[in-house]
Amino acid sequence: MKALLLTEYMHLELTDVAVPAIGPRDVLIRVRSCGICGSDVHGIDGSTGRRIPPVVMGHEAAGVIAEVGSDAGDWRPGDRVTFDSTISCGECAFCRTGDINLCDNRQVLGVSCGDYRRNGAFAEYVAVPARILYRLPDSLSFDHAAMIEAVSVAVHAVNLTPIAPGDTAVVVGCGMIGQLTIQAAKAAGFATVIGVDVDDARLEVARAAGADPVLNSRTCDAPAEIRALTNGRGADAVLEAVGMTAPIQTAIAAVRKGGTVTLIGNFSGQIELPLQQVVTRQIRLQGSCASAGEYPKCIELMASGKIRVDNLISACTPLEDAASWFDRLYRHEANLMKVIVQP
Ligand SMILES: [Zn+2]
Ligand SMILES: [Zn+2]
Repeated sequence: MKALLLTEYMHLELTDVAVPAIGPRDVLIRVRSCGICGSDVHGIDGSTGRRIPPVVMGHEAAGVIAEVGSDAGDWRPGDRVTFDSTISCGECAFCRTGDINLCDNRQVLGVSCGDYRRNGAFAEYVAVPARILYRLPDSLSFDHAAMIEAVSVAVHAVNLTPIAPGDTAVVVGCGMIGQLTIQAAKAAGFATVIGVDVDDARLEVARAAGADPVLNSRTCDAPAEIRALTNGRGADAVLEAVGMTAPIQTAIAAVRKGGTVTLIGNFSGQIELPLQQVVTRQIRLQGSCASAGEYPKCIELMASGKIRVDNLISACTPLEDAASWFDRLYRHEANLMKVIVQP
């Protein structure tokens, strides 16, 4: 089969490799769409240590079942499916309580980090355990289904955030995850969702996604504006989707006393934390990682149109041209959000 192989750092090659073998509990999937994730783009230069060559990357995928293992349950060739990017073991203490994102034996598809190597879905076929499959409704295209992983990150973060009727949420950082978080917060019932970013073009997209108002924190004092909009209290919840000192400080300054700041972004390994504000205003900092069982909910939200992804897809490309799109993403070409590979 054809696969896009990272043969060495910074070098992607379209090559022929063997179709993956499946075990009794696995299925083989003919990949139709697979999104290029930021972690793939950063991974190709070796800086993250999670894409050690050779590896076929790609973990945000959807396709059609081609072959079913002898003990893989109720699946049939031809079924349209997507699957979790994370392979959880199903047996550790975290898996048993449903926290599959915290699994002690967690592996991510398309990752090669020294502990394990799991070839992913930038290829014609990928093998995955049947346990992580989800059926797709006919109304959801493969390209949109490849966005479910990103949607699930947003929905999981909102699920971890306390909400009461009439509450106001702020989303700091209106990149792709931020845009989806705005939609997920609206869908969850936040009465008002305010978008904050430093880029006016992104804020316009945020407005279209349901944020109202939107605030440019480079040209205004966003926390002061948010207090003015909330009778001086501050927002009930803030979701931060960047992961750097400045936006996290904005988030902490914008939340009300006793409110929650949910941290999704992790761009910086370390940040400067205004500790006294957090302690004396009794703010809860809630980390959020990947997702834990939200895929069916995400499929429902997308199929019903409550979460829309069409304007977040910048381009779709055949496997043959995928390497050049990696290049453009690596060089941070302006206005690129999600690029979907169609093997
Ligand atoms: Zn991803
Ligand atoms: Zn586990």
